Amino acid sequence: MSAQRIEGKQISDAIRAEIAIETAKLAEQGIIPGLAVVLVGNDPASSVYVGSKAKACEQLGFYSEVHRLEEQSSQEDLLSLIDQLNKQSNIHGILVQLPLPKHIEEKAVIDAISVHKDVDGFHPVSVGNLVIGDDSLLPCTPAGVIEMIKRTGIEIAGKHAVVIGRSNIVGKPVAMLLLREHATVTICHSKTANMEEIAKTADILVVAIGKPKAIGASFVKPGAVVIDVGINRLPSGKLAGDVDYDDVLDTAGYITPVPGGVGPMTITMLMLNTLKAAKQVNRIGE
Ligand code: NAP
Repeated sequence: MSAQRIEGKQISDAIRAEIAIETAKLAEQGIIPGLAVVLVGNDPASSVYVGSKAKACEQLGFYSEVHRLEEQSSQEDLLSLIDQLNKQSNIHGILVQLPLPKHIEEKAVIDAISVHKDVDGFHPVSVGNLVIGDDSLLPCTPAGVIEMIKRTGIEIAGKHAVVIGRSNIVGKPVAMLLLREHATVTICHSKTANMEEIAKTADILVVAIGKPKAIGASFVKPGAVVIDVGINRLPSGKLAGDVDYDDVLDTAGYITPVPGGVGPMTITMLMLNTLKAAKQVNRIGE
């Protein structure tokens, strides 16, 4: 029997409808969630992402600012912009589009963003809060993964979750969030021995390695939930995940497609974080 597709687009649309309702309620109190997106340089993919974020803000009734800095802008220029945005009361979330040009130190930039406006969830204090289990703004893609699983009605507690990939932006935070949801979590990476056998014991398999179609049916336990975070551009121009969708389809119980799976969730979770940051600064819902 074919796996059930987890439709990220539909789940994302449902969450956006909820955000729109909340935003309208805030507007009655004179509060408009505000997001600043900063892009340094002319990377075409980054430019598309920035455009999508601004469009999502517009659709949801948020205020947004897009700051486009020249490729050769200095780190000081960027830090001074962040300082200004940290102080701006109409901005509740700041997102600096990564990757940055080589001459700018990513860590210095992430550290400079006020933790209260850290809607990407990459600031070391946000990461610390996530690990401890304190309330914080969660990294968007990992939070989207958890939300998709929950909204599909899949129980996480007590399950064995295997995460393949240990990056700071996806693998590690997904693993921490699954642990927070009471899964038993194993993390695999490029040096893991017997990865196939380990993956095969997963009830929930999350893959974020950046290798097109690397994970086939031999890695999947029959009936497992397979979440494919990978987004890879094939030479044909088509997008592919890290999971070989067609190969896994008859083995998995649930599977996320690429495109249309985890991808649409990321910007939606960014909007949710911006809304949350706006509520927090105005002490709404405390
Ligand atoms: P990354 O920083 O390159 O990290 C890749 C991780 O995968 C590393 O931990 C690496 O292990 C591990 N890895 C690589 N090849 C492996 C292999 N053959 N077997 C086991 N582990 C392997 O990538 P990332 O930023 O986490 O992104 C991963 C994928 O998700 C990419 O396709 C990216 O485009 C996609 N992504 C999607 C979204 C979204 O919105 N849906 C957001 C972010 C990223 P080591 O640590 O040992 O090197």
